[in-house]
Parts: sequence; structure tokens; C-alpha cells
Amino acid sequence: MMDFDAWWLLIPLACFALGWFAARVDIRYVLRDARALPSAYFRGLNFLLREEHDRAVESFVDVSRRDPHALDLQLALGSLFRRQGRVGEATSIHQGLVDRHDLPKDKRDFALFELAQDFHAAGLFDRAEHVYEQLTGTAFEAEAVTRLASVLEQEKAWPRAIAARERIARLKGEPQGRFIAQYHCELADAAFAAGDDVALQAHLAAAHEVNRNNARIPLITFALAMRRGDHAVAKDALSDLLRLRPDLTTLAADGIVELYKAEGTPARAVEQLAYAQSLAPTSLGLSRLVDASLAIEGADRAIDRLRGALTAQPSARQASRLLELESARHPGAAGTVMHDIAQLLLRATERTPGFHCTHCGFRAPRHYWKCPGCNEWESFCATALGQ
Ligand SMILES: [Zn+2]
Repeated sequence: MMDFDAWWLLIPLACFALGWFAARVDIRYVLRDARALPSAYFRGLNFLLREEHDRAVESFVDVSRRDPHALDLQLALGSLFRRQGRVGEATSIHQGLVDRHDLPKDKRDFALFELAQDFHAAGLFDRAEHVYEQLTGTAFEAEAVTRLASVLEQEKAWPRAIAARERIARLKGEPQGRFIAQYHCELADAAFAAGDDVALQAHLAAAHEVNRNNARIPLITFALAMRRGDHAVAKDALSDLLRLRPDLTTLAADGIVELYKAEGTPARAVEQLAYAQSLAPTSLGLSRLVDASLAIEGADRAIDRLRGALTAQPSARQASRLLELESARHPGAAGTVMHDIAQLLLRATERTPGFHCTHCGFRAPRHYWKCPGCNEWESFCATALGQ
């Protein structure tokens, strides 16, 4: 019995010895491979790890000159060049690889995918599109079509961008309705400008079909209804907008005032703008509300509204406006002082009110459906009061 126990104790020892042997064998292989690699390769790797891309590229160029068949290295080099903005050099490496006849299919496809991205980065959209299309049926198809969609967006080729998104949805199994709805809205905007109401309504319906939470649909519907004088439709669109994105009500503020003036109930316009502010208090929204209140309800009520909003959420810019409005009610020296302080306060507020991207922080006085900073869709929000 004792002998049996002792035998078991030997097993971990034997495993250790086997592991040690295996490790030694591996290390020997590694060392042999390492000796076969030029030292420039390791220098390059070091520079890469230290994020010294220029020196990394120099070392890798050295290696690839000695061994023009080091395929993976050439591919890595090409992508490094592109990341550095040296698109011409990246293109020539990738084009050289694509033109080689001895390349295995997967490597050639990879080089082709890289080449398409070089053209894309260089702004050669036609050529990028052509090469992305060539990757149909390869392992890179889904990624190629995703990038193709972004090229088509840049070209504002909306119908083709819609087709590309439908392909992405099929290839990746990821819903693309958010993008497709925006593309239809772009087409709806163009139809609105061209006065083609039939096309406009078809695009709005298509957008709604794929994303019923898109706030751009009620905004365009509201503008169309106002142009046609269809107040019932305009009111429905307004309530959809207030439900989906109350912060964007400012984009329809003029139309809202126009709508209720035409109805003979202008005070309703102020109420709607105040309601939007209660749901999403934004700096621009408060400005529009005070504008409407001044025009419709008069200075006393506008000042009350402004003071109430400032008590709930202080804002230097809006405080300056309050002082400005008050100064008009105080003729003489006091009014002048108030006006001067209002101007100073306004100058001291650094940020322009308006909109910002919730994705990258880009700020702008106007609204964008696609952020010019990071190209994200629907990431722009009206900036909250006091921010
Ligand atoms: Zn952004």
C-alpha cells in the first residue's frame, strides 16, 4: 500500500520533466528561427513598441529589401505606411503584391483589401469602390462592403449606400436600419428642396419602415406639412418630435410659432417650446423660448420665464441675456451699467451655445445629422443649459 502511494508521487515529477523537455525543444526552435531573422526586424519591432513609427518603417524597409518574399512583413509595412499618411508608398507596396502571380489567394485578397483602403485614404473614391467590389465572395467581403458604405456616404451616393447597408445586414447579421433611415432622410431632404412631394413621402415611409425612432422623420414631415398648410399633420409630427428628441425642438421653433400664429393661438407656440424645455433644458431651446415669449407674451413674461429657468439651472450666457432684457426696462445710468455688464458676461462665456457630438465632443453652432468630427450619425445633441 505504501509503495502504491509513493508511485503516485512520481507522476507530477515526470510531468515536470516532460514539460521542461518540451520547453527546451520549443526554445531551441525559437532561437533557431530568431537567428534566421535579420536584426533589423527586431530593431523595427522595438521601434514599433515604442511607437516610433518612422524608425520602425526604416528597419522594416531594410528587412524587406533583403527578403522581398517576406509577405507578412510587406503587408505590415504597407499598413504602417498608410497609418503614417504615406499613402503613395502604401499603395505601391500593395499594388506590387496584388500584381504578383505567386501569391496565395488569401494573401492576395488581403493585399487587395489593403489597396482599397489606400485609395480610400487618398480620396480616390472611384478606385476604392472598384477594389472593394472586387472583394465580393472573399473572406474580406463584409469589411469591404462596410468601408464601401462609408465611401458612398462621402460621395452622397445614397441609393447605392442603401444597397451596401442591406448587403452588410445580410453578411454580418447586424441591423443597419439606423443608417438606411438616415440615407432615406437625405433623399427626402433633396426631394423637399426639389419640391417633389411624392418622392419625399416615399422616402419618409421607407425611413420609418426601417427605423421608427428616427427624429429626422417628424422634422421633415413637420416642414412638409407647414409648406402644404396641413396643420393637423404638423401637430402630429411635432408631438412625435417631442416624444423622440425634445432637445431638437429648437430646429422647428420658427415653424412652431408660424403654426400657432396661423391657428390664431400663438400662446400655444410658447407653451410647446416651454414643454420641450421641461423635457430637455437646452441653451438654444431657452433662447428660442425667450424669443417667442418676447414676441408673443411681452417682456415681463419673457423675463419671468428666463429667471425661472436660470434659478433651476444657472447659465452665464442666459444670465447675460436676462441683464440685457432688464437693462431695457431701466432707462438711464442703471440701464447702461446693466447693458455693459451683460456684454462683458457674454464675452466671458467661452463656448458658443448650440450643439455638440456625444461621441467625440465636437461643438458647432448648428445641428448635423452626421458629425463632421467623427462621422457618427445622430450623435449631435442640443447642448444642455449651463454647459
Ligand atoms: Zn463626433
